[in-house]
Amino acid sequence: MKKNEMKIEFDSISANEAFARVTVAAFMAQMNPSMEEVADVKTAVSEAVTNAIIHGYGSEVHKITISGVIEEELLLLEVSDQGIGIQDVKKAMEPLYTSCPEQERSGMGFLFMEAFMDEIQVISKPGEGTTVIMKKIIGHHGA
Ligand code: ATP
Ligand code: MG
Repeated sequence: MKKNEMKIEFDSISANEAFARVTVAAFMAQMNPSMEEVADVKTAVSEAVTNAIIHGYGSEVHKITISGVIEEELLLLEVSDQGIGIQDVKKAMEPLYTSCPEQERSGMGFLFMEAFMDEIQVISKPGEGTTVIMKKIIGHHGA
């Protein structure tokens, strides 16, 4: 059974958004993904990391972790922060809901993560942080 795991930890600064998505893209390269699959995963990772930076930690700099597991054709990613957390996860995930419309946020982040991954789950506790768990089956592009 083909299995591979990785974990990265980095500061919550916007310069690391590109680092995070490129690193995950490199990790999943061994799954022989299509260009579209790589683009989808990069977008989802960007959204989760941006949320951790902006909403989770606000203007403070703390650590964000991404853990990745490959199990056969399943890619499992977890993006975690130990920031402010989310009071009402269901509401936060509603399309176009944003807690900061004044910052020109459009409330599309979770929508993109749901659209580009097969499954997403958000575990969050106010004051303790947020973990976004995302799954995607890679490499079923017909033979
Ligand atoms: P956009 O992603 O379009 O710029 P947004 O970030 O507000 O706007 P979503 O990514 O869908 O929209 O997130 C919805 C809301 O969920 C956010 O406005 C924020 O209140 C909350 N949220 C999301 N991620 C986190 C997090 N890691 N920590 C705390 N709150 C979060
Ligand atoms: Mg967002």
